[in-house]
Amino acid sequence: MSGPEGRAGVWTEETAAAQKTESAPKNTTTDGVSMEDLPIRDDLRGRSPYGAPQLAVPVALNTNENPYAPSGRLAETLAARVAEVATGLNRYPDRDAVRLRAALAGYLGHGLDTSGVWAANGSNEVLQQILQVFGGHGRTAMGFEPSYSMHPIIAGVTGTGWAPVPRTPGFDIDVEAATEAIVRQQPHVVFLTSPNNPTGTSLPLEVIERIAAVAPGVVVVDEAYAEFRREGTPSALSLLPAHPRLIVTRTMSKAFAMAGARLGYLAAHPAVVDALQLVRLPYHLSAVTQAVAATALDFADELLGAVKQLREERDTLVAWLRARGFAVADSDANFVLFGEFADRGAAWQGLLDRGVLIREVGPPGWLRVTVGTPEEMSAFREALLQVAAGQ
Ligand SMILES: *Cc1c(COP(=O)(O)O)cnc(C)c1O
Repeated sequence: MSGPEGRAGVWTEETAAAQKTESAPKNTTTDGVSMEDLPIRDDLRGRSPYGAPQLAVPVALNTNENPYAPSGRLAETLAARVAEVATGLNRYPDRDAVRLRAALAGYLGHGLDTSGVWAANGSNEVLQQILQVFGGHGRTAMGFEPSYSMHPIIAGVTGTGWAPVPRTPGFDIDVEAATEAIVRQQPHVVFLTSPNNPTGTSLPLEVIERIAAVAPGVVVVDEAYAEFRREGTPSALSLLPAHPRLIVTRTMSKAFAMAGARLGYLAAHPAVVDALQLVRLPYHLSAVTQAVAATALDFADELLGAVKQLREERDTLVAWLRARGFAVADSDANFVLFGEFADRGAAWQGLLDRGVLIREVGPPGWLRVTVGTPEEMSAFREALLQVAAGQ
Protein backbone atom coordinates (compact mmCIF):
# COMPACT_ATOMS: atom_id res chain seq x y z
CA MET A 1 0.00 0.00 0.00
CA SER A 2 1.36 3.44 -0.75
CA GLY A 3 0.35 6.79 0.63
CA PRO A 4 -0.02 10.19 -0.99
CA GLU A 5 3.72 10.69 -1.04
CA GLY A 6 4.06 7.39 -2.82
CA ARG A 7 5.96 5.80 0.06
CA ALA A 8 5.45 2.15 -0.43
CA GLY A 9 5.60 -0.57 1.94
CA VAL A 10 8.08 -1.57 4.53
CA TRP A 11 6.88 -0.55 7.96
CA THR A 12 9.56 -0.07 10.58
CA GLU A 13 9.82 1.58 13.98
CA GLU A 14 11.66 4.42 12.25
CA THR A 15 8.82 4.95 9.81
CA ALA A 16 6.48 5.17 12.76
CA ALA A 17 8.74 7.67 14.50
CA ALA A 18 9.12 9.76 11.34
CA GLN A 19 5.37 9.94 10.93
CA LYS A 20 4.82 10.63 14.57
CA THR A 21 2.57 13.63 14.73
CA GLU A 22 -0.52 14.74 12.88
CA SER A 23 0.89 16.85 10.04
CA ALA A 24 1.08 20.52 10.92
CA PRO A 25 0.36 23.10 8.22
CA LYS A 26 3.48 24.26 6.45
CA ASN A 27 3.40 28.01 6.84
CA THR A 28 6.90 28.92 5.78
CA THR A 29 8.53 28.50 2.41
CA THR A 30 12.22 28.14 1.60
CA ASP A 31 12.65 31.90 1.04
CA GLY A 32 11.18 32.67 4.47
CA VAL A 33 7.98 34.23 3.16
CA SER A 34 4.92 32.84 4.94
CA MET A 35 1.23 33.28 4.22
CA GLU A 36 1.13 35.66 7.18
CA ASP A 37 3.18 38.06 5.02
CA LEU A 38 0.47 38.09 2.37
CA PRO A 39 -2.57 40.36 2.37
CA ILE A 40 -4.98 37.55 3.26
CA ARG A 41 -8.39 38.25 4.84
CA ASP A 42 -8.05 39.24 8.50
CA ASP A 43 -10.53 36.55 9.53
CA LEU A 44 -8.37 33.84 7.91
CA ARG A 45 -5.19 34.81 9.80
CA GLY A 46 -4.01 32.20 12.27
CA ARG A 47 -6.29 29.49 10.90
CA SER A 48 -5.02 25.99 10.04
CA PRO A 49 -6.18 23.99 7.02
CA TYR A 50 -8.10 20.74 7.56
CA GLY A 51 -5.43 18.17 8.22
CA ALA A 52 -6.39 14.54 8.73
CA PRO A 53 -3.01 12.89 8.22
CA GLN A 54 -2.52 10.94 5.00
CA LEU A 55 0.22 8.57 6.13
CA ALA A 56 1.52 5.46 4.40
CA VAL A 57 0.56 2.95 7.08
CA PRO A 58 -0.27 -0.75 6.70
CA VAL A 59 -3.66 -0.31 8.41
CA ALA A 60 -5.35 3.09 7.82
CA LEU A 61 -8.51 3.36 9.91
CA ASN A 62 -8.60 7.13 10.36
CA THR A 63 -10.81 8.79 7.74
CA ASN A 64 -13.94 6.62 7.66
CA GLU A 65 -13.31 5.44 4.13
CA ASN A 66 -14.87 2.23 2.88
CA PRO A 67 -12.09 -0.40 2.77
CA TYR A 68 -13.62 -2.27 -0.18
CA ALA A 69 -12.30 -0.98 -3.50
CA PRO A 70 -14.62 -1.02 -6.52
CA SER A 71 -14.99 -4.52 -8.01
CA GLY A 72 -13.32 -5.37 -11.32
CA ARG A 73 -16.74 -5.31 -13.02
CA LEU A 74 -17.53 -1.85 -11.66
CA ALA A 75 -14.04 -0.55 -12.50
CA GLU A 76 -14.44 -1.79 -16.10
CA THR A 77 -17.87 -0.22 -16.44
CA LEU A 78 -16.52 3.05 -15.04
CA ALA A 79 -13.70 3.00 -17.59
CA ALA A 80 -16.14 2.37 -20.47
CA ARG A 81 -18.49 5.20 -19.40
CA VAL A 82 -15.60 7.59 -18.93
CA ALA A 83 -14.33 6.64 -22.41
CA GLU A 84 -17.74 7.56 -23.84
CA VAL A 85 -17.70 10.89 -22.03
CA ALA A 86 -14.11 11.54 -23.13
CA THR A 87 -15.15 12.08 -26.74
CA GLY A 88 -17.26 15.04 -25.63
CA LEU A 89 -14.82 16.70 -23.25
CA ASN A 90 -14.35 19.66 -25.60
CA ARG A 91 -17.83 20.74 -24.46
CA TYR A 92 -18.86 21.99 -21.01
CA PRO A 93 -20.76 19.41 -18.96
CA ASP A 94 -24.51 19.47 -18.23
CA ARG A 95 -24.55 22.46 -15.86
CA ASP A 96 -27.60 21.10 -14.05
CA ALA A 97 -26.41 17.46 -13.87
CA VAL A 98 -29.96 16.39 -14.64
CA ARG A 99 -29.34 12.72 -15.37
CA LEU A 100 -27.28 12.24 -12.21
CA ARG A 101 -29.77 14.14 -10.03
CA ALA A 102 -32.63 12.01 -11.37
CA ALA A 103 -30.64 8.87 -10.50
CA LEU A 104 -29.87 10.20 -7.01
CA ALA A 105 -33.56 11.03 -6.46
CA GLY A 106 -34.47 7.50 -7.56
CA TYR A 107 -31.95 6.05 -5.13
CA LEU A 108 -33.24 8.15 -2.20
CA GLY A 109 -36.93 7.43 -2.85
CA HIS A 110 -39.31 9.30 -0.50
CA GLY A 111 -41.12 10.73 -3.54
CA LEU A 112 -38.13 12.92 -4.44
CA ASP A 113 -37.43 14.02 -8.01
CA THR A 114 -34.71 16.00 -9.80
CA SER A 115 -36.07 19.35 -8.60
CA GLY A 116 -35.49 18.42 -4.95
CA VAL A 117 -31.96 17.04 -5.32
CA TRP A 118 -28.67 18.86 -5.87
CA ALA A 119 -25.12 17.52 -6.28
CA ALA A 120 -21.59 18.92 -5.96
CA ASN A 121 -17.97 17.86 -5.53
CA GLY A 122 -18.31 16.06 -2.21
CA SER A 123 -20.82 16.96 0.45
CA ASN A 124 -18.27 19.46 1.72
CA GLU A 125 -18.95 21.53 -1.40
CA VAL A 126 -22.68 21.10 -0.84
CA LEU A 127 -22.22 22.41 2.72
CA GLN A 128 -20.14 25.31 1.42
CA GLN A 129 -22.86 26.26 -1.07
CA ILE A 130 -25.48 26.08 1.71
CA LEU A 131 -23.42 28.45 3.87
CA GLN A 132 -22.76 30.79 0.93
CA VAL A 133 -26.51 31.13 0.45
CA PHE A 134 -27.86 31.01 3.99
CA GLY A 135 -24.82 32.07 6.05
CA GLY A 136 -22.13 34.66 5.39
CA HIS A 137 -20.92 37.82 7.10
CA GLY A 138 -23.07 38.94 10.00
CA ARG A 139 -24.83 35.56 10.11
CA THR A 140 -24.42 32.59 12.44
CA ALA A 141 -24.43 28.81 12.15
CA MET A 142 -24.97 26.53 15.16
CA GLY A 143 -23.72 23.00 15.75
CA PHE A 144 -23.85 20.46 18.58
CA GLU A 145 -20.36 19.39 19.60
CA PRO A 146 -18.49 17.13 19.44
CA SER A 147 -19.42 16.90 15.78
CA TYR A 148 -17.93 17.12 12.29
CA SER A 149 -14.97 19.52 12.34
CA MET A 150 -15.67 20.76 8.80
CA HIS A 151 -18.93 22.46 9.82
CA PRO A 152 -17.16 25.24 11.80
CA ILE A 153 -14.29 25.33 9.27
CA ILE A 154 -16.59 25.89 6.28
CA ALA A 155 -18.61 28.37 8.35
CA GLY A 156 -15.40 30.32 9.00
CA VAL A 157 -14.31 30.25 5.37
CA THR A 158 -17.67 31.70 4.30
CA GLY A 159 -17.49 34.41 6.99
CA THR A 160 -20.31 32.82 8.98
CA GLY A 161 -20.12 33.03 12.79
CA TRP A 162 -20.03 29.74 14.71
CA ALA A 163 -22.21 29.06 17.75
CA PRO A 164 -21.35 25.70 19.35
CA VAL A 165 -23.68 24.02 21.85
CA PRO A 166 -22.35 21.05 23.85
CA ARG A 167 -23.90 17.59 23.62
CA THR A 168 -24.76 15.64 26.77
CA PRO A 169 -22.10 13.33 28.32
CA GLY A 170 -23.82 10.48 26.41
CA PHE A 171 -23.33 12.44 23.13
CA ASP A 172 -27.05 13.15 22.70
CA ILE A 173 -28.62 16.49 21.95
CA ASP A 174 -30.58 17.82 24.93
CA VAL A 175 -33.70 19.09 23.15
CA GLU A 176 -34.60 21.63 25.83
CA ALA A 177 -31.09 23.12 25.83
CA ALA A 178 -30.99 23.04 22.01
CA THR A 179 -34.32 24.79 21.46
CA GLU A 180 -33.47 27.32 24.16
CA ALA A 181 -30.11 28.11 22.47
CA ILE A 182 -31.81 28.44 19.07
CA VAL A 183 -34.54 30.75 20.38
CA ARG A 184 -31.94 32.91 22.16
CA GLN A 185 -29.27 33.02 19.41
CA GLN A 186 -31.48 32.88 16.28
CA PRO A 187 -28.90 31.07 14.09
CA HIS A 188 -29.36 31.31 10.33
CA VAL A 189 -28.16 27.73 9.87
CA VAL A 190 -28.40 24.79 12.30
CA PHE A 191 -26.25 21.70 11.70
CA LEU A 192 -27.46 18.34 12.98
CA THR A 193 -25.21 15.40 12.14
CA SER A 194 -26.95 12.05 12.22
CA PRO A 195 -25.31 9.58 12.51
CA ASN A 196 -22.89 11.99 14.16
CA ASN A 197 -19.17 12.10 13.47
CA PRO A 198 -17.09 11.42 15.60
CA THR A 199 -19.51 9.81 18.07
CA GLY A 200 -21.50 7.52 15.72
CA THR A 201 -24.73 8.34 17.53
CA SER A 202 -27.91 9.22 15.62
CA LEU A 203 -30.84 11.48 16.42
CA PRO A 204 -34.48 10.51 16.92
CA LEU A 205 -36.73 12.22 14.35
CA GLU A 206 -38.59 13.86 17.21
CA VAL A 207 -35.44 15.82 18.17
CA ILE A 208 -35.00 17.02 14.58
CA GLU A 209 -38.67 18.04 14.40
CA ARG A 210 -38.53 19.95 17.68
CA ILE A 211 -35.45 21.83 16.46
CA ALA A 212 -36.91 22.49 13.01
CA ALA A 213 -40.05 23.88 14.65
CA VAL A 214 -38.13 26.69 16.42
CA ALA A 215 -35.19 27.31 14.04
CA PRO A 216 -35.64 30.62 12.21
CA GLY A 217 -33.28 29.63 9.36
CA VAL A 218 -32.38 26.41 7.59
CA VAL A 219 -31.74 23.12 9.41
CA VAL A 220 -29.14 20.89 7.77
CA VAL A 221 -29.14 17.21 8.70
CA ASP A 222 -25.75 15.85 7.62
CA GLU A 223 -26.45 12.17 6.90
CA ALA A 224 -23.03 11.25 5.48
CA TYR A 225 -23.27 7.85 7.20
CA ALA A 226 -26.98 7.17 6.64
CA GLU A 227 -26.50 3.82 4.90
CA PHE A 228 -24.63 2.42 7.92
CA ARG A 229 -27.40 3.04 10.43
CA ARG A 230 -28.78 0.13 12.42
CA GLU A 231 -32.15 -1.40 11.65
CA GLY A 232 -34.96 0.87 12.81
CA THR A 233 -32.92 4.11 12.86
CA PRO A 234 -34.87 6.62 10.74
CA SER A 235 -33.62 9.10 8.11
CA ALA A 236 -34.64 12.74 8.16
CA LEU A 237 -35.69 12.37 4.49
CA SER A 238 -39.17 11.47 5.73
CA LEU A 239 -39.48 14.94 7.33
CA LEU A 240 -38.81 16.89 4.12
CA PRO A 241 -42.42 17.25 2.88
CA ALA A 242 -43.46 18.98 6.11
CA HIS A 243 -40.36 21.20 6.45
CA PRO A 244 -39.43 23.43 3.48
CA ARG A 245 -36.36 24.77 5.30
CA LEU A 246 -34.94 21.35 6.14
CA ILE A 247 -31.96 20.09 4.09
CA VAL A 248 -30.61 16.53 4.19
CA THR A 249 -27.06 16.06 2.89
CA ARG A 250 -25.55 12.76 1.78
CA THR A 251 -22.30 11.62 0.18
CA MET A 252 -20.94 8.85 -2.02
CA SER A 253 -17.63 9.01 -0.10
CA LYS A 254 -18.54 6.49 2.59
CA ALA A 255 -21.16 3.81 1.85
CA PHE A 256 -20.63 3.97 -1.93
CA ALA A 257 -16.85 3.62 -1.55
CA MET A 258 -16.29 6.59 -3.87
CA ALA A 259 -14.32 9.01 -1.66
CA GLY A 260 -11.89 9.55 -4.54
CA ALA A 261 -14.65 10.50 -6.99
CA ARG A 262 -15.85 13.50 -4.90
CA LEU A 263 -19.62 13.40 -5.09
CA GLY A 264 -21.95 14.76 -2.43
CA TYR A 265 -25.61 15.69 -2.69
CA LEU A 266 -28.62 17.00 -0.86
CA ALA A 267 -32.37 16.58 -0.78
CA ALA A 268 -34.56 19.56 0.05
CA HIS A 269 -37.50 21.62 -1.12
CA PRO A 270 -37.05 22.66 -4.80
CA ALA A 271 -36.89 26.31 -3.65
CA VAL A 272 -33.71 25.47 -1.71
CA VAL A 273 -32.22 23.90 -4.86
CA ASP A 274 -33.16 27.07 -6.79
CA ALA A 275 -31.45 29.23 -4.16
CA LEU A 276 -28.21 27.22 -4.44
CA GLN A 277 -28.01 28.13 -8.15
CA LEU A 278 -27.13 31.67 -7.02
CA VAL A 279 -23.74 30.57 -5.66
CA ARG A 280 -22.74 27.42 -7.54
CA LEU A 281 -19.97 27.97 -10.05
CA PRO A 282 -21.10 27.33 -13.62
CA TYR A 283 -20.20 23.77 -14.70
CA HIS A 284 -18.94 22.93 -11.18
CA LEU A 285 -19.49 19.18 -11.65
CA SER A 286 -17.30 17.75 -14.39
CA ALA A 287 -18.74 15.43 -17.04
CA VAL A 288 -16.37 12.74 -15.76
CA THR A 289 -17.62 13.10 -12.18
CA GLN A 290 -21.25 12.99 -13.34
CA ALA A 291 -20.66 9.83 -15.36
CA VAL A 292 -18.68 8.12 -12.59
CA ALA A 293 -21.31 8.90 -9.94
CA ALA A 294 -24.22 7.78 -12.13
CA THR A 295 -22.39 4.52 -12.87
CA ALA A 296 -21.73 3.89 -9.18
CA LEU A 297 -25.47 4.35 -8.56
CA ASP A 298 -26.16 1.65 -11.15
CA PHE A 299 -24.10 -0.63 -8.90
CA ALA A 300 -25.89 0.40 -5.70
CA ASP A 301 -26.93 -3.17 -4.84
CA GLU A 302 -23.38 -4.48 -5.10
CA LEU A 303 -21.91 -1.54 -3.18
CA LEU A 304 -24.52 -1.66 -0.43
CA GLY A 305 -23.86 -5.39 0.00
CA ALA A 306 -20.41 -4.47 1.34
CA VAL A 307 -22.09 -1.95 3.66
CA LYS A 308 -24.05 -4.78 5.26
CA GLN A 309 -20.76 -6.57 5.98
CA LEU A 310 -19.26 -3.41 7.49
CA ARG A 311 -22.29 -2.92 9.73
CA GLU A 312 -21.88 -6.47 11.04
CA GLU A 313 -18.15 -5.92 11.56
CA ARG A 314 -19.01 -2.69 13.42
CA ASP A 315 -21.46 -4.40 15.77
CA THR A 316 -18.89 -7.15 16.45
CA LEU A 317 -16.26 -4.52 17.25
CA VAL A 318 -18.58 -2.64 19.63
CA ALA A 319 -19.35 -5.86 21.53
CA TRP A 320 -15.67 -6.86 21.61
CA LEU A 321 -14.58 -3.48 23.01
CA ARG A 322 -17.35 -3.48 25.64
CA ALA A 323 -16.46 -7.01 26.71
CA ARG A 324 -12.93 -5.77 27.39
CA GLY A 325 -14.11 -2.92 29.57
CA PHE A 326 -13.86 -0.04 27.10
CA ALA A 327 -16.52 2.65 27.04
CA VAL A 328 -18.09 2.68 23.56
CA ALA A 329 -20.60 5.11 22.07
CA ASP A 330 -23.52 3.45 20.24
CA SER A 331 -22.65 3.54 16.55
CA ASP A 332 -24.89 3.89 13.50
CA ALA A 333 -21.84 4.68 11.36
CA ASN A 334 -18.78 2.92 9.91
CA PHE A 335 -16.60 3.93 12.85
CA VAL A 336 -16.60 3.54 16.59
CA LEU A 337 -15.70 6.06 19.31
CA PHE A 338 -14.19 4.35 22.32
CA GLY A 339 -12.26 5.15 25.51
CA GLU A 340 -11.54 6.28 27.99
CA PHE A 341 -7.78 6.64 28.03
CA ALA A 342 -5.85 8.52 30.70
CA ASP A 343 -3.46 9.51 27.89
CA ARG A 344 -5.16 9.05 24.54
CA GLY A 345 -2.23 10.59 22.67
CA ALA A 346 -0.01 7.79 23.99
CA ALA A 347 -2.59 5.15 23.02
CA TRP A 348 -2.91 6.65 19.51
CA GLN A 349 0.88 6.66 19.16
CA GLY A 350 1.14 3.09 20.50
CA LEU A 351 -1.25 1.93 17.78
CA LEU A 352 0.62 3.88 15.10
CA ASP A 353 3.91 2.32 16.25
CA ARG A 354 2.23 -1.01 15.47
CA GLY A 355 1.20 0.17 12.01
CA VAL A 356 -2.41 1.00 12.85
CA LEU A 357 -3.50 4.59 12.23
CA ILE A 358 -6.74 5.70 13.89
CA ARG A 359 -8.01 9.20 14.70
CA GLU A 360 -7.34 11.28 17.77
CA VAL A 361 -10.59 13.21 17.73
CA GLY A 362 -13.61 13.83 19.92
CA PRO A 363 -13.74 14.42 23.65
CA PRO A 364 -10.53 14.04 25.72
CA GLY A 365 -9.85 10.39 26.54
CA TRP A 366 -11.64 9.00 23.47
CA LEU A 367 -10.37 7.73 20.11
CA ARG A 368 -12.18 6.96 16.85
CA VAL A 369 -11.52 3.89 14.74
CA THR A 370 -12.96 3.32 11.26
CA VAL A 371 -14.38 -0.14 10.55
CA GLY A 372 -12.18 -1.87 7.97
CA THR A 373 -11.85 -5.39 6.56
CA PRO A 374 -11.83 -8.38 8.96
CA GLU A 375 -8.03 -8.54 8.54
CA GLU A 376 -7.62 -4.85 9.39
CA MET A 377 -9.88 -5.20 12.40
CA SER A 378 -7.94 -8.14 13.79
CA ALA A 379 -4.71 -6.14 13.36
CA PHE A 380 -6.39 -3.29 15.25
CA ARG A 381 -7.63 -5.56 18.04
CA GLU A 382 -4.23 -7.18 18.49
CA ALA A 383 -2.44 -3.82 18.58
CA LEU A 384 -5.00 -2.37 20.99
CA LEU A 385 -4.59 -5.26 23.43
CA GLN A 386 -0.82 -4.73 23.41
CA VAL A 387 -1.19 -1.00 23.92
CA ALA A 388 -3.76 -1.45 26.72
CA ALA A 389 -1.49 -3.98 28.47
CA GLY A 390 1.34 -1.47 28.40
CA GLN A 391 -0.63 1.47 29.79
C1 LIG B 1 -17.03 12.20 5.67
C2 LIG B 1 -18.08 13.20 6.00
C3 LIG B 1 -18.63 13.99 4.99
C4 LIG B 1 -18.23 13.70 3.57
O1 LIG B 1 -17.60 14.66 2.92
P1 LIG B 1 -17.36 14.50 1.35
O2 LIG B 1 -16.97 15.88 0.99
O3 LIG B 1 -18.66 14.09 0.73
O4 LIG B 1 -16.29 13.48 1.16
C5 LIG B 1 -19.65 14.86 5.29
N1 LIG B 1 -20.11 14.95 6.56
C6 LIG B 1 -19.62 14.21 7.55
C7 LIG B 1 -20.20 14.31 8.91
C8 LIG B 1 -18.57 13.33 7.31
O5 LIG B 1 -18.05 12.63 8.30
